[in-house]
Amino acid sequence: MAHLYIHIPFCLSKCSYCSFVSYPGLEHLYDRYINALMTEMRMLTSVYEPQPLDTVFLGGGTPSLLSVENISSLLHSCRERFEIKAQAEISMEINPKTVDFMQVLSLKNCGINRVSLGVQSFIDTELQRLERIHNAQEAWDAVESVRNAGIANINLDLISGIPGQSVDSWRWNLQSAIALNPNHLSLYQLSIEEKTGFFEQFAGGRLPLPDEDEIAGMDEVTAELCRSAGYNQYEISNYARPGFECRHNINYWLNEEYFGVGAGAVRYLTGERIKNIEDPLLYCEKMERGESVVKESESLGPEASFRESVVMGLRMVEGVSSERLLSRYGIDLQLYYKETLEKLLELSLLEFHKPYLRLTAKGRALANQVMADLV
Ligand code: SF4
Repeated sequence: MAHLYIHIPFCLSKCSYCSFVSYPGLEHLYDRYINALMTEMRMLTSVYEPQPLDTVFLGGGTPSLLSVENISSLLHSCRERFEIKAQAEISMEINPKTVDFMQVLSLKNCGINRVSLGVQSFIDTELQRLERIHNAQEAWDAVESVRNAGIANINLDLISGIPGQSVDSWRWNLQSAIALNPNHLSLYQLSIEEKTGFFEQFAGGRLPLPDEDEIAGMDEVTAELCRSAGYNQYEISNYARPGFECRHNINYWLNEEYFGVGAGAVRYLTGERIKNIEDPLLYCEKMERGESVVKESESLGPEASFRESVVMGLRMVEGVSSERLLSRYGIDLQLYYKETLEKLLELSLLEFHKPYLRLTAKGRALANQVMADLV
């Protein structure tokens, strides 16, 4: 079973918190970039034996800026290179500003069966602060368009901890999202990343971030509202109705292999993690000349990969299976971590219900600290 990520590095403008590989003002490259992606898929599948795809994920950037013809050609080429399983999850990230009913209907006909909408907030002043290109009404309209077009598998992305946000405004945001009845919610806490607009404002002391107590209050609201609306938390930031967990992302957290194509994309195949160059123009030029687009690669030995699997697996609420680790790496989790594990269990940051080692609620709040001890 295989998984494919396709990166679309284009946006209409740059949001103030964004550190993703995404660039505005490159409309002239769209067609060329699609051809380059097709070339990379062809090159990859001539080197690596492609297994049938269980998931395909078109992420970005803003994939919904591309024309339906572009997406259709891309998925067509994907089907030529890989077998896509009949029940495959085929996701696409959509910005609420860039979508309408007819477009989603066409995307559905191309095979898209899961849509992830980058809503981030239902409050216009918060959206303006994030420098999003859409407003709250457009987010509501987008959900309606996606659902009316017949795509029921919908994720909404929301951000908590936005500058100026209160516990009450977060509650209102989450209630608004739940009222739209999506199957999946990705609820990320804002982090301030280097080389972003927010980073500069933060460094200059001009960013009124919610304090620790307010963040804790928002976390309580999240737990309470999601539980009562029937969304199970299955990863630190992800909640789903039963059966609607994102299979593509679960594969990452299981630290299993995947294909990745596009500028800035990462792939993990035959034990090697490879990252592509980020510049979309250079990516196109190199692909047109049949040259490598690899920026860096890393081969993990079994022990490093084992530790990585532990840390990534602990992001999931279910935890990491010691049996799975033993059969994959031949390493016994308890023997390997010994005192470190005992200490974390004693501090009630981790719990071990064989075969699963998982973070406790207290451990989830201090997840970075726990991971640092295990990495
Ligand atoms: S839409 Fe997404 S990828 Fe594009 S700039 Fe905003 S946060 Fe970044």
